[in-house]
Amino acid sequence: MIREIVTYDIHSRNNNEILHKKLKQVTDFHSDETLNCIKDLNDTLDDVIARQGNRRGAIGLSANQIDYDLAISAVTLGDQRYMLINPKLIKENGKERLFRIGCFSVDDYRAMVRYNDDVTVAYQDEKGNHKEIELKGDRSCVVQHEMDHLQGMLLFEKAEDFDRDFFIPRETLYKDGKVPLNNHGMIFELERRRGLRKTIVPTAWYSSLFNDYTDYVAYAYKIANEEKELLNVIRKHAPKNAKIAEAGNGTGALSVALEKEGFKLNCCEVDPDMLELAIRIGEANRSKVAYRKADLADLPFEDGSFDLIFSYEVLETLNDQELTEALKEGLRIADTYVFKVPTIRIAANTLKGNERLRTEREWKKTLARNGFTLLESKPLDKGGYLILVIQ
Ligand SMILES: [Zn+2]
Repeated sequence: MIREIVTYDIHSRNNNEILHKKLKQVTDFHSDETLNCIKDLNDTLDDVIARQGNRRGAIGLSANQIDYDLAISAVTLGDQRYMLINPKLIKENGKERLFRIGCFSVDDYRAMVRYNDDVTVAYQDEKGNHKEIELKGDRSCVVQHEMDHLQGMLLFEKAEDFDRDFFIPRETLYKDGKVPLNNHGMIFELERRRGLRKTIVPTAWYSSLFNDYTDYVAYAYKIANEEKELLNVIRKHAPKNAKIAEAGNGTGALSVALEKEGFKLNCCEVDPDMLELAIRIGEANRSKVAYRKADLADLPFEDGSFDLIFSYEVLETLNDQELTEALKEGLRIADTYVFKVPTIRIAANTLKGNERLRTEREWKKTLARNGFTLLESKPLDKGGYLILVIQ
């Protein structure tokens, strides 16, 4: 029977536990479950090949991808189909190298994954006979990828560097103007499962940025210069000497710049290391910005304390619910919220890997759906960024 392939889907929060499961070893080669699994793997893989061919000469499918909990992978190598039951890597004969691979269970993505390009695998065939096979190049990669499935591991968990340029190619990322499965979602999910993710901001990524900067005065000028457009929008919407808050301030460089113009600034940041750095930058610039440790969704100020609140390159890392909470909280303490986010047109080499990328239209829809009034929407850098002003 041709079965539907189980896919990982971060949007629906249905992450299909079977894909993350270490599958059971096959002990009974005659049970209905084993026989059905083998038949369905054959039928489903035949169907996949009929639809998309086997250009690399190696293609495979594993039992959990069609919802069976058995350590079986079907692979077609050249013209031959192998049913690899209880496969085990017994020898690595070659060198490790990076392979660019996709997976039927992770739509629309490719990742660079490191495998040995010449391995020997021991397995049992459909009758339970013990066999060995030596595999090179793409065949080695495909079989090891299938063996990862049997361990409950998905391709993005095998990729070495999930920070930047991890998911390629760009044209699939931007297919139909949509991000089919957003990379930030995957990375956060991965970090969460590895126990690395505790806060709603990717602290590890941006804490690593600052080892390079020692001249904090020059740094603040540089950022203020780079963010001229954002500063202009803030000035436009803030009365003279207005009280302004920055949410998720990072280095707080823009707050330092605004404070020099006579505005009164309060910065909020959840990451203590980041906050300490922002304070040092403020001191180096002889700034009177006030700093508080606070979460975007829980700002330690009374209602209506500020004329304007702003943030940049923070809100795109949140899911819809977190975003709405953060914006509502911002508008509780301030009249107007100005924020800058990247869009799906952002140049791939500037992606941090934690963004949730949307089009300008999707941003507007999300804001309207959650009851925010849009005052201004200003695309920047050929639409790669967007400044939004809401009430
Ligand atoms: Zn796969």
